[in-house]
This record gives sequence, structure tokens and C-alpha cells, in this order.
Amino acid sequence: MYDIGIIGGGTAGMTAAVYGQRAGKRTVIIEGGTFGGQITSSPKVENYPGIASVSGSEFSMNLLDQAMKLGAETETERVTGIRDEGTVKVIETTGREYPCRSVILATGVTHRHLGVPNEERLTGAGVSYCATCDGAFFRGRDVAVVGGGSTALQDAEFLCNYCRKVYLIHRRDEFRGEESIVKRLREKENIEFVLSAVVKEIVGDMAVEGLVLHHKKTGEDSRIDVAGVFIAVGQIPQNEIFADIVKLDESGFILAAEDCMTSCPGIFAAGDCRTKEVRQLTTAAADGAVAALAACRYAAENGSQSK
Ligand code: NAP
Repeated sequence: MYDIGIIGGGTAGMTAAVYGQRAGKRTVIIEGGTFGGQITSSPKVENYPGIASVSGSEFSMNLLDQAMKLGAETETERVTGIRDEGTVKVIETTGREYPCRSVILATGVTHRHLGVPNEERLTGAGVSYCATCDGAFFRGRDVAVVGGGSTALQDAEFLCNYCRKVYLIHRRDEFRGEESIVKRLREKENIEFVLSAVVKEIVGDMAVEGLVLHHKKTGEDSRIDVAGVFIAVGQIPQNEIFADIVKLDESGFILAAEDCMTSCPGIFAAGDCRTKEVRQLTTAAADGAVAALAACRYAAENGSQSK
């Protein structure tokens, strides 16, 4: 029996494990893919308090190391659902079951797709959702980044280091992401801003060869030749498997209170997977702490044996 079962090994989940372990609770983090979460795709994190600059992968590996040294258990398994047995919640995976006194959902979000022709077919053949992972394959080539948030801006900045030319394509004239990065980008010589434009089609036979763009102000279409397109148009939640046990909002985010408690007592939601105004590394970490302390309280009230 675990005191706290954490689903998702990103910043929120790993922070929850740190707080749970430090409170003397037995915790397990179950992650379906790679531990670290979204931030591992950020080449540089410059807005985490107390750390002027760190790579996303270094940040998350340090956090995982911290949680494991405190005794958190980790499992790589795909969760298929949660069974509510009153004061015990059973996390079901493809391989086994984990009975827990409390559960923290920290499933994060997944990449939004553009939904344009050839996007799915050419994923991995020039279409990428992670500049940090795939950018180096495009050394000396021309590429495009799509999006106007901090991820797109960071991706564009990162790719400028490798690529001959980077087109930054955004559907509006103003960026949603950090102004300081926009300022740095404006000083680069190998970037071209293509604003008020959307991708109409990705062109290519075996691999990406170019993009057809639609310019919203003129109503015209144009084509650019690129070997890669990095899509950074935000994220969507992946909470469908929990819809029968906790309430979701109309966009699929988990509804949770100030203490991260969901509509099901004993199940908490932390980080980007829950309804909230600001989705940042800091707020994911904050949620992890809040959810873990609330879960500790709940587990204690429902029969936990602290170590
Ligand atoms: P985001 O802030 O939601 O931005 C998504 C961008 O994609 C927006 O500019 C949006 O345009 C555009 N977009 C959405 N759907 C589109 C479509 N169908 N076609 C074309 N464009 C589309 O997402 P994000 O940049 O991934 O950032 C997510 C969160 O993580 C944010 O809170 C961000 O601040 C945070 N973040 C933090 C760091 C860090 O270093 N700490 C790094 C990266 C991200 P509109 O602007 O017109 O809506």
C-alpha cells in the first residue's frame, strides 16, 4: 500500500514525491514515457526563482535524482485507470495494480498538432514537436518554427544556432511569449519573422521540402522551402481516462480546488493537467508541493502509517 501514488513524472509529479517523501510517506511515481516532462524540451530555463539559467533536462534530472534519493519509488508503466474503493484508490496499469491511500494526477499536457495536410505522415521526417531533441539534425539547413508562445520563441532561438535560416511563423502580429526572447531574436541575422500567417500545408514526398503559407492580411498564399518544421502551438491535456472518476472542464483539464483536491476525495491534480491561469515551471512545482501536503493530510486521516 502506497500513501501517495503519483501519475506523471514531470515537474509537478516529482516535486510531489519530494514533499511526500520528506513528510515520511511512501510514494511511487508512475510515468508512461520518459521522466522529466515537458521542461526537458526547453534548452534554457531562465525564469525559475533562484536559478539564473539551467537546461530543462538538467533541471528535471536533478529533480528526479532528489526524489529518488529521498526514497521515492519510480515505475515506467502506462496507467489505464483508477478504481475508487473508498479510502483506497487502486491505480491500474497495463502490467499491475497499485493500491494507494491517495493519488496525485500530474499528467501534464501533450503537444497540439496543426492538423494540416501531411503533418502526421511527415512526423519524424522533418516535422518535429521538439527542437531540443531534433534541432541538431538540421544543421546548416533552412527550417521553420510555428507558434508565438515562449516555446516557439525558445525553439527559434535555439535553432538559430544550428540552422542557416529560421522562419518564425505566427498567426498574429503580437507574440504571446516572453518579450525578452523576442528582443534577442530581433537581433539575430538568420531569422525571418512571418507574422499574421498560418501553415496551410506541409509539402514533401519522403521528407519535408517546404510549407504553403496563407497570409491572413493579404489573403494570398506563398511557399517557402524548408527541410524541417518545428510545431510549437501549445499543449492539450490527456485526461480522458480519468473522466469517469474526476470532473474535467470543457477543455479536458481536471477541476481542482486551491488544495489541488479534485471532485473525488483522495485524488488530487497538480501542474498543467488541471484548470489554472498560469502554466509555468514554477506553478507546476508549487502545485506538486500543495497537492503532496494535502495528500499527506488525507492519507494520515485515512490510515497511513508514516515511516
Ligand atoms: P502557448 O503559450 O499556449 O502558445 C501557443 C502558441 O501557438 C500561441 O502563440 C498561439 O497563438 C499559437 N497557436 C495555437 N494554436 C495554433 C494553431 N492551430 N495554429 C497556429 N498557431 C497556433 O504554448 P507554449 O509556448 O507551449 O507555452 C506553454 C506554457 O509553458 C506557457 O505558459 C509558457 O509561458 C510556458 N513555457 C515556459 C518556459 C520556460 O522557460 N519557463 C518555456 C516554454 C514555455 P495565439 O498567441 O494567437 O493564441
